[in-house]
Amino acid sequence: MIEITNTAEQLTAKLADTHDLTDEELKLLIESDNSDELLFSLADKQRRKVYGEDVYLRGLIEFTNCCKNDCFYCGIRRSNHNTDRYRLTDEQILECCKTGHRLGYRTFVLQGGEDAYFTDEKLCTLISRIRSEFPECTITLSIGEKSRESYERYFKAGARRYLLRHETADDAHYRKLHPETMSLDNRKRCLYDLKDIGYQVGTGFMVGSPYQTTENIISDLRFMQALDPDMIGIGPFIKHKDTPFSDCESGTLSGTLRLIGIIRLMFPHALIPATTALGSISPTGREQGLKAGANVIMPNLSPTEVRELYLLYENKICTGENAELCKGCLERRISGAGYRISYASGDVIRKGAR
Ligand code: SAH
Repeated sequence: MIEITNTAEQLTAKLADTHDLTDEELKLLIESDNSDELLFSLADKQRRKVYGEDVYLRGLIEFTNCCKNDCFYCGIRRSNHNTDRYRLTDEQILECCKTGHRLGYRTFVLQGGEDAYFTDEKLCTLISRIRSEFPECTITLSIGEKSRESYERYFKAGARRYLLRHETADDAHYRKLHPETMSLDNRKRCLYDLKDIGYQVGTGFMVGSPYQTTENIISDLRFMQALDPDMIGIGPFIKHKDTPFSDCESGTLSGTLRLIGIIRLMFPHALIPATTALGSISPTGREQGLKAGANVIMPNLSPTEVRELYLLYENKICTGENAELCKGCLERRISGAGYRISYASGDVIRKGAR
């Protein structure tokens, strides 16, 4: 029997039961460290109920660090002239897939800045080539805001999942993180278009981003309840010296873990990664993320020589390693945390499906 000794624990038990709380209750839970142990254990129980001990792997290919956007938090923003820019060729990208496939990965995530060099035509050719060479693999895109028509074209070419964090669901907060040229409305439009087209959609936000309040986080949770995403990616904000936020505090390990736990209980069926950013603020961050309710890890498949150039934030882990090393290291971490790698493509399990 679980002994409930304080209000935060009461709320945690209620959240595990009903998968929802009022705004006031969420605020209390988000701001309290009184219930973390219970929260993580109930979140882990919930994750095991739907996904067992499986951890899904997504091979991440960071294929371009060129970006037309100027997000204030991001190290590869357009105005950062202190970084060399790169683009992988189709051959290099296919080589990454080949390595990933050999290591057992069955999902490839193509992530990059918003790079006009990669026209829809080029992207569709690339997607089709990956599809035909690795027919049993799932292709995930994470390439930012596009028109509905573009998203439709990528889907037709064979992409099936899309990651696009909303970053913050509060307009005023969104304005503080992005230049005038970007808008929360368009980002939301993208997410609803992607869903409508038939993609499995991932969204999310940074924990501890500059100016973020608890109320902002509650808006994020409410927005996600309305969107009902298949995947939810959260990780701590980490500063980068060549951005306007170079002096800002990073998000915390404990704050991120608590939100992973809360999100697992609110979204029992979601695929939730223990992110690279979480592993970058603490050597055991990803293992702790798994124990708090996460069930996905995204090993880096990018060629070692470009990893240092895809620096969204400082002290990013695994930049000196290659894909083989990443795999061995992750296997140890995952089994050490009490879980098992699944080499399945790992689609979302929807409500009522199990
Ligand atoms: N251009 C794509 C991919 C962005 S990179 C897009 O717009 O979706 C993926 C995620 O990294 C971003 O959505 C953001 O939430 C996160 N990120 C960017 N800069 C970061 C930083 N300084 N600290 C932590 N996470 C960051």
